[in-house]
Amino acid sequence: KVLCATGIIAGLLAFFWKDPFSPESLFGVRVLLTGASAGIGEQMAYHYARFGAEIVLTARREAVLQKVVEKCLTLGAKKIFYIPADMSSPSEPEKVVQFAVQKLGGLDYVVLNHIGVTRFQMWSGDTAYTRWLMQVNFFSYVTLATAALPTLEKNKGSLVVVSSLTGKIPTPFTTSYSATKFALDGFFSSLRHELIMQKRTVSVTLCILGLIDTDTALENTRGKVYLTASPAPEAALAIIQGGAMRVQEVFYPWWLQHVCRLWVLFPYNRDQVLQSYYNYSSP
Ligand code: NDP
Repeated sequence: KVLCATGIIAGLLAFFWKDPFSPESLFGVRVLLTGASAGIGEQMAYHYARFGAEIVLTARREAVLQKVVEKCLTLGAKKIFYIPADMSSPSEPEKVVQFAVQKLGGLDYVVLNHIGVTRFQMWSGDTAYTRWLMQVNFFSYVTLATAALPTLEKNKGSLVVVSSLTGKIPTPFTTSYSATKFALDGFFSSLRHELIMQKRTVSVTLCILGLIDTDTALENTRGKVYLTASPAPEAALAIIQGGAMRVQEVFYPWWLQHVCRLWVLFPYNRDQVLQSYYNYSSP
């Protein structure tokens, strides 16, 4: 009984007491960041640069990556490299990790953030697209993480996986995208258990984001949803802080965690409420 009570108290303390985020903890850390040429990934690159990190950026467009690199250098990045790579190619993820380890001498953070072109529309029956998106949004994450685990373990590092509310709650117009994000939750939450059980000191942080004001997201959702988008620089900072504090799940905006809880607690009428946020007039 005493053991049980002590366990509960320790659990409660761990739940409520979290060391505050210390920006200094990121000075000189070695980061591999995907999807870094635009949107939230670009903003994360700027934050890591301001914190004085050593960074490897990747995405497909070389010219855009070069511009992000230049800005990162003006912001204070200690070291910065980039490697263009298309994550729809199964051989690219491993090459990217090898490049990063070779350039930085190891990795402390791997931040998986890229996504393939997202269709925000009713299911059209294009299963080839779903397969392709699974490769870009899911299988490449698995390969990147697997290739990086040895160096992360050596450095007590962190895997940070960017997901979405639609990876916790299925929403309309996102069939394939939602499937890739649910897959990420299943894989990486299971991996987290295994790493803890094996006492391998690599943290896994899953980031659940709501609508964020990146160009692609705004373009995709224009006229189709009644939701307000949150700012990308803030979302980027929330992800970085969550990774640095080794929390299991980051919700941004913060209240999304309550939305997820309510979704489970109140199964009645929830679909109707959710659908009312989406604009669909049948042809
Ligand atoms: P963006 O579309 O703005 O950026 C996507 C990034 O991925 C770009 O750097 C792009 O660069 C890269 N990319 C695209 N295709 C490939 C590919 N085939 N191989 C490698 N890289 C590729 O996305 P966001 O910033 O909006 O989203 C970032 C993350 O946040 C994603 O994981 C997304 O699911 C998540 N999220 C975003 C939300 C939002 O509302 N914005 C909401 C919920 C979650 P390039 O074209 O140069 O390859």
